[in-house]
Amino acid sequence: MNNKLGLTSGFFKNPTKESWESAVAAGITDIELGLSHDFDTEAILVQAEKKYDLLSSSGLVISSIHLPFGNPWDISMLDNLGREAAIEKYKVLVDWAAEKGIGIAVLHASYEPIDDEERQQRLETATESVKILSDYAREKGVSLAVENLPRTCLGNCSDDMLTLTGNGRNAGICFDANHLLIESHKDFLEKVGPYIITTHFSDYDGIDEKHWLVGEGCVDWAEVVELLRQQGYQGRFLFELNELADPNTEEAFTPKDLVSRFKEVSKLHSLY
Ligand SMILES: [Zn+2]
Repeated sequence: MNNKLGLTSGFFKNPTKESWESAVAAGITDIELGLSHDFDTEAILVQAEKKYDLLSSSGLVISSIHLPFGNPWDISMLDNLGREAAIEKYKVLVDWAAEKGIGIAVLHASYEPIDDEERQQRLETATESVKILSDYAREKGVSLAVENLPRTCLGNCSDDMLTLTGNGRNAGICFDANHLLIESHKDFLEKVGPYIITTHFSDYDGIDEKHWLVGEGCVDWAEVVELLRQQGYQGRFLFELNELADPNTEEAFTPKDLVSRFKEVSKLHSLY
């Protein structure tokens, strides 16, 4: 196993060419470009182009985008017109990814909170929306990855993820290790493992998402990596955290610190 290492474009507070080159030197090859959450695709893409240019000039491959989320972007909303507007805007962003040759688009299946009484209907609605978007993206050469989410969000457990992705037939999954609040990593990965096409790695306390530095929370990284390996996962190990995400200090850590910490806690020393 030699999964590529990736980082979110939000890692550095003030990113420069030099800082991104330090990520390359640390062994990071891939980036997930986080899009802003404005409900205005033109504004989003102006920013995205700037980020893309800086990242690619530093030698990084932008291999995924993180689609925006928030109330107007909620593809589970029961208001048909609002939902259609969100889907149309997502299509514009998928088009941009396709133009750039970016192969994965990460999507949240809902915003929050989701009321219990509405939950089933919202789940069915989101599942339909995922199918529409995923079919659209696939035609353009982009794979849609639905992310597992915390709290009351749709996608907070493996059963939701199986429904939302049509058991992996309609869309892939982005596995966020710090979003599992009601299910163990083992149970989750054994159920949805084959459908995972990308990851978000960071640590947490098991109570809520924290996006901490790996090794600072309760995630058993050796187990997570082993379970992914058993499921045949060959995609990126992509860290979704920022340089200040060490809960013990307010000082920034470097991509090199992050990579060496990950190798240590996942027991991957010999493989990279
Ligand atoms: Zn996300």
